[in-house]
Amino acid sequence: MAGKRTITIIGGGVIGLTAARALVGAGHDVTLIERREDVGQEASFANGGQLSYRYVSPLADAGVVRDALGWLLHPHAPISLRLRADPGQWRWLLGFILACNRQTNRTNAAILLDLALAGQAELRRWRHAGLDDFLWRRPGKLVLYRESSKFRRAARAIADPDRQRALSPAECMAVEPVFAGLQSRIAGGIFSPEDEVADCALFCVAMRKSLAAQPGFRLVRGEAALAPGSGGRCALAVNGRPFETDLIVLAAGIASRVLAHPLGIDLPLYGLKGYSLTTRPRPGTLPAVSVTDYDNRVVYAGLGDRLRIAAMVDIGAEDTTPDPRRLAALRALVAQTLPGAFDRGEDAPWAGLRPATPTGVPVIARSRYDNLLFNVGHGALGFTLSVGSALRLTDIVAGADARAIG
Ligand SMILES: Cc1cc2nc3c(=O)[nH]c(=O)nc-3n(C[C@H](O)[C@H](O)[C@H](O)COP(=O)(O)OP(=O)(O)OC[C@H]3O[C@@H](n4cnc5c(N)ncnc54)[C@H](O)[C@@H]3O)c2cc1C
Repeated sequence: MAGKRTITIIGGGVIGLTAARALVGAGHDVTLIERREDVGQEASFANGGQLSYRYVSPLADAGVVRDALGWLLHPHAPISLRLRADPGQWRWLLGFILACNRQTNRTNAAILLDLALAGQAELRRWRHAGLDDFLWRRPGKLVLYRESSKFRRAARAIADPDRQRALSPAECMAVEPVFAGLQSRIAGGIFSPEDEVADCALFCVAMRKSLAAQPGFRLVRGEAALAPGSGGRCALAVNGRPFETDLIVLAAGIASRVLAHPLGIDLPLYGLKGYSLTTRPRPGTLPAVSVTDYDNRVVYAGLGDRLRIAAMVDIGAEDTTPDPRRLAALRALVAQTLPGAFDRGEDAPWAGLRPATPTGVPVIARSRYDNLLFNVGHGALGFTLSVGSALRLTDIVAGADARAIG
């Protein structure tokens, strides 16, 4: 696949945009197709804002199935499951259960860590080359553990003690005093001082603007569709009209699964619905570092003068309409953790579908069609993994070894 190519990317979320930037940087001509009025309007819109480079352990881990069974009866559960008459859901759940063991989690976490750290270094270069403000900061990330067995396990799993530290409850509160009310309720925390935060929607707009200044780039508003073509290739249409290109990159988030169906390809993707609240908290209640309340799976990130709170994994919720019961559960969890931080009704709720694989490892791969590549399935970590995934994709376009799926 070496040499300059004409490449069309389907999807203007954070994954498609970063892929476009890396591919243009490698000298290719790139067209990005986006069906919405602007980029970054779907899963990339109001996500948790954590660039969680050092903390990339997939959701599938030992003990998660047991925890999830307990949560099923709890109204504030961080994970909820609605079984559907959908063989795709059952296959995904089976793959997820099979990945819920320590060894698979460690192997997959190592793959994600490589992608994340490569992306962190490259994003530094992109920022230095000039990007519009996207509320980027490097405040570090503190993961708070309420259960001591989970804290001890996380402390044992620290791979690089120069860049991650296990802290006592008092040390956690010294790092982030806004959560002082939790001191007696936590077992400890893991602090990763080099982790970052940023607004993903603003980042998408900053990427669009920087790409618009590149001669090899164009953005086309339209609905893309794929179909089997001739000679081992697949055919692309935009708004029903054939669209000529050397290579196609499918990066359409959760919609990628449906887009790949006419090709006879069943991508291992499922939409895990999650929620966020965005608020201007009262003075003194905006955390400086980004914080994860591990046992409740709630993340807190200060973005400018706003606080973004994200949480919940709803399996089997297929649309992005916020469910009032889940929002109420999230607000109740936050009220217990940061009492009085903000008023109800001033917390801009949002819901999105994380495009998740069972293992948490994205599909960055060739396909059985000579002209089709995938960059999909970034799940709960798409912002964090986006730039590293774009570099990996660019290597595959340049001829690097990659598995072919579908
Ligand atoms: C509640 C929540 C919190 C999160 N928190 C974090 C976090 O803190 N840190 C982190 O790293 N990640 C986080 N994530 C995950 C991250 O947001 C996603 O992994 C990421 O946004 C996925 O990006 P994407 O580009 O693959 O998908 P999307 O952003 O959904 O983009 C896909 C794009 O493709 C377009 N499209 C679809 N079909 C077509 C078509 N036929 N033609 C043209 N265009 C099409 C869509 O309009 C869309 O713009 C969170 C997600 C959620 C839901």
